[in-house]
Amino acid sequence: MKASLAEMAGKDCVKVAVRVRPFNKRERDAGSVCVVSMASSSVTLQDPRGGPSRCFSFDHVYWSHSGFSREGGRYLAQEPGGRYADQACVFQDLGEGVLQSALQGYNATLLAYGQTGSGKSSTMLGHGPNPGLVPTLCHRLFHSLTQHQDSMQSQVFFSMLEIYNEQVVDLLCRGARAPGGLRVREEQHRGFYVEGLRRVPCDSAVQVEQLMEQGTRARTTATTHTNANSSRSHMLITLQLKQIFSRESITKQSFISLVDLAGSERQRGSGSEADRLKEGTAINLSLTTLGNVISALADVALGRRGVHVPYRDSVLTKLLQAALGGNSRTFMIATLSPADICYEESLSTLRYADRWAGTRPSGEPSGVSGQTDPSLLAVFYDYIKLMPMVAEANQMSQELHKEVEFKLEIKNLALSDARGHDLEKDIAVRVTSLKNRQVWLWSKSKFVNRKYLMEELYQQHQAEGGGAVGPVPRERDPFWDPVEPLLLGKAHLWLQSLAFRIALDEQLEVLGSEGTEEAIVQAQLIPCSPTGLSLSEEDILIDPSELLGRRLDFQLVLDQCCGLRWLRQARDRGVQIGFQMFDCVQLFTPAVWHNVNPLLDQRIHFTSLQTSPALLEHLQTSALVLELWGLQEGCVELAWCLEGVGTTPEGSFIIDQASDTPAVCTVDSLQRDLEALRKDNSSLRDQLSMAKHGCECVRGQAERSQAERSQAERSQAERSQAERSQAERSQAERSQAERSQAERSSQRSSCEVELGRSLKVFYHSMTSVRALLQGLRRHRPSEDAGLQALRLYVCEQAAQLKVFSEELEQSVAALKQDVAAIVRRKRERSGTWS
Ligand code: ADP
Ligand code: MG
Repeated sequence: MKASLAEMAGKDCVKVAVRVRPFNKRERDAGSVCVVSMASSSVTLQDPRGGPSRCFSFDHVYWSHSGFSREGGRYLAQEPGGRYADQACVFQDLGEGVLQSALQGYNATLLAYGQTGSGKSSTMLGHGPNPGLVPTLCHRLFHSLTQHQDSMQSQVFFSMLEIYNEQVVDLLCRGARAPGGLRVREEQHRGFYVEGLRRVPCDSAVQVEQLMEQGTRARTTATTHTNANSSRSHMLITLQLKQIFSRESITKQSFISLVDLAGSERQRGSGSEADRLKEGTAINLSLTTLGNVISALADVALGRRGVHVPYRDSVLTKLLQAALGGNSRTFMIATLSPADICYEESLSTLRYADRWAGTRPSGEPSGVSGQTDPSLLAVFYDYIKLMPMVAEANQMSQELHKEVEFKLEIKNLALSDARGHDLEKDIAVRVTSLKNRQVWLWSKSKFVNRKYLMEELYQQHQAEGGGAVGPVPRERDPFWDPVEPLLLGKAHLWLQSLAFRIALDEQLEVLGSEGTEEAIVQAQLIPCSPTGLSLSEEDILIDPSELLGRRLDFQLVLDQCCGLRWLRQARDRGVQIGFQMFDCVQLFTPAVWHNVNPLLDQRIHFTSLQTSPALLEHLQTSALVLELWGLQEGCVELAWCLEGVGTTPEGSFIIDQASDTPAVCTVDSLQRDLEALRKDNSSLRDQLSMAKHGCECVRGQAERSQAERSQAERSQAERSQAERSQAERSQAERSQAERSQAERSSQRSSCEVELGRSLKVFYHSMTSVRALLQGLRRHRPSEDAGLQALRLYVCEQAAQLKVFSEELEQSVAALKQDVAAIVRRKRERSGTWS
């Protein structure tokens, strides 16, 4: 019933809208000029000092600046279908989305972001005859619930709180306030919650409106009380909706979170310096953390593993954890003042909103069709979109003397999976420290996110006169990250020869994500006995299905790594190789440092106790992917975790674990075998006693006939002399026949050995053919492909194709010849013997 965020990734997990309001009195009196313009889904902001104008695009943009008339306090478009976007128009796009998501059982969150006075509360709550998103949503919600009350029972709970300076205040509580605010607690099943928060059951929109008014009044007093003003606190309304469909016995529960965020402007209040600092830090912290949470969630939705979502970093994100993560939809509206005097703040607001929009997973581009791989197209569009951002980041790094360099990369451009299929492409940003050559690889959303923080730092730097920036603590420096191992590239070791129990010795090319040669790895696959002795050519299998149900032992040998590009670039580095053999855990070779051609010297024994069809199929169709990981000074080396890995008494890793299940449930089957043996035993005992009885009878008869026999024996002796000479003759004939049978069967087994040998040659030659094919697939024209370069590319391509087809034909021809020779020899021999 419920979809995960990842499932919705292709749809709309974060929708971002921007709205611009009319001039207010102060702006009008100051003779302000409007610096915001909008067209279809883009917003352009003009620098009043004549700098370049900035353009951003979003899911929706709302022009509420002009083109309206006021009737009894109500804002209406001057002409029907005019430019002015009224409250109903905003509800249509955003409120309706929230409502439908909640009715379907998804959590939905709607946030308003912008500088104080830009229209957040007007958009969220509205006033007088211009009801905002929240009251309209409540009306529509209760309307829908009453319409369906025959088939569904429902419950709605309302709560309203404020977060100021990281403290929680219940806005529906009339009594005395807890000093230090209410406690935020965490329970395993419930997640974060506010202890003792009032939740009021509601059954009409009117009731909710009354509560909202009560809460808004309390907010004003609360903030006066704490010597602040409401613009510096976040307000969070939560509607908890429960729907019970008794006929289908389904219950749907969803949380609607409606957030009027604190003003995004940099704080310059009237309180004491220390208070202001604390307050400003708290607001910036929670708004920044919110952005970090959204971008981490977008990473999760894209299927990235091990992403840390920093919910715990602020009270706001703690309380929104359920609403943002899991099965949820998020909507954000950023509000702008139109005035030139607010240019800086408006730019900052648009950047924040753009960062959210930037976290949207890339779909098929946001009019383009054709046969091109859609994921590649999306990456291409991302690349173009990110290019200027990377240039800006480099510029900022230079001006702030950060000494890091950013470069766009396409992840997996030249890499493939264990079956040789293309991997999903994505954008990554390579960050290199110019000081010590340390390298980081950032995801697209991490970069977009960090770029926003860099801009904050940069603006601060500009505001302080543009001198050298003071030291920023590392963990708050957007240019810095702890060093991690870096995936440099992958190599493929094809497993097919193991299915024939043929040993393989290979020089493998490790390819970087964009096709560069990162290193050569010398690797072997050696089929062996359970104790690790290598097998002989006699053990080669002609038919791999003979492996089924039987034990298979082999060793993976990683001898050496040569020509490491990673080390050629800087010597204070190391490498490790990671790999996963079938269903075994990921294993890593020990780290080797400071060496361009390090010895690896690893021999790892694997055992399948009863080869399953799945393993056999894997051997025949897949490769072992060897991942080359780059280590840098100060990073943690990669280690394996052997939890759940079985080993044989000789110490080899057991793979193909699924096929071991019969061995695990032996108690049952032993019991059954024992029963069967007991039955067999008792029937044998019966047979034995019958046989004994038979013997008794025979003995009696024998004694009686003894006398008759001695008479007969005498005449028999004469006859047997003649028979003996006859028997000797036929014995000689029989041994002659047995001899020729043995010769025929040794002839068959020698055929099999020969066939095995030529298969081995064939598989070896196929490996080099496969490498040629991969080279062909990777071969691309150079980036600045003029006509001349293209012509060269086509010529090279043709030459490579020629080599490829020649090699392929040669190896097939050799195999044909070998097989023909074997067949001929076999015929000749059988002709001789038959
Ligand atoms: P915020 O909550 O962001 O501090 P408000 O919503 O209180 O800002 O807006 C400040 C003032 O601007 C309001 O008093 C309101 O009169 C005016 N205003 C804001 N948005 C609009 C709008 N879309 N149309 C008309 N007036 C608006
Ligand atoms: Mg407000």
